[in-house]
Amino acid sequence: MQKVVVLGTGPAGLTAAIYLARANMNPLVIEGNEPGGQLTLTTEVENFPGFPEGIMGPELMQNMRKQAERFGATFQRGWVTKADLTKRPFTLTIDGSEQIQTETLIVSTGASAKLLEIPGEKENIGRGVSTCATCDGFFFRGKKVIIVGGGDSAMEEANFLTRFATEVRVVHRRSELRASKIMQDRARKNPKITWSLNCTPIEVIAGEKGVTGLKVKHNDTGTEEIIETEGIFVAIGHRPNTAFLQGQIKTDETGYIVV
Ligand code: NAP
Repeated sequence: MQKVVVLGTGPAGLTAAIYLARANMNPLVIEGNEPGGQLTLTTEVENFPGFPEGIMGPELMQNMRKQAERFGATFQRGWVTKADLTKRPFTLTIDGSEQIQTETLIVSTGASAKLLEIPGEKENIGRGVSTCATCDGFFFRGKKVIIVGGGDSAMEEANFLTRFATEVRVVHRRSELRASKIMQDRARKNPKITWSLNCTPIEVIAGEKGVTGLKVKHNDTGTEEIIETEGIFVAIGHRPNTAFLQGQIKTDETGYIVV
């Protein structure tokens, strides 16, 4: 029986693990399919306090993990498929079979990338469709790519992709971007970034060798266009990983736990 289990190894989970370990609570930290969380998928982190020159996302997460380990947190790889929170101690089912009981549970499972849910998208993941520019950008050296989204992630990834691609076209469903001013300005100043605003993606077009284009609808005129591209990076936000709680904890309409 565990005193406390932490689910997730993103910044929230590792911060909890550091504090628990330093309080002699011997936390067990369950590490899922994306160890280190979303920051491991990013490049430079400029706004984490304490790093005036910035720090690379994966390095920041490695440091946090080492810090938790230093004070005695233990780590186990696995995916929680079920959690029974109806009686104490709580019971967690890991990878469908192993069971762990714990007096206290800290849920810091973060979120996973959202998809557009349009025809041609899912079947072409890994064939030109990606949700991770830092992981896959390298494969698009000398090619034209599209990034879908108008938030900070889309701006950051668009800039990053210009290291490899000849042109990065931002496709966004509204005429205004959601991204912060500093990120917008940086993207707008980049001569390799072009813009298709007020355009809704409606279909991923692909052939035998993978993606060849993205069909979009111009919202003002209703006309459709196929933008030629070999890579489509989807950067439209994230969905919380709370499905395993199966309604045992109050969540908002998007699935985030109400705290
Ligand atoms: P976000 O801010 O939620 O932006 C998501 C973007 O995707 C929005 O522009 C949204 O359009 C669009 N979108 C959502 N669903 C869509 C759909 N089904 N079809 C087409 N477009 C869709 O997500 P994010 O950019 O991942 O950022 C998440 C958080 O992390 C934000 O708070 C952001 O500031 C932060 N962040 C910060 C940095 C940084 O360097 N400071 C970097 C990355 C992220 P609408 O605008 O029309 O809703």
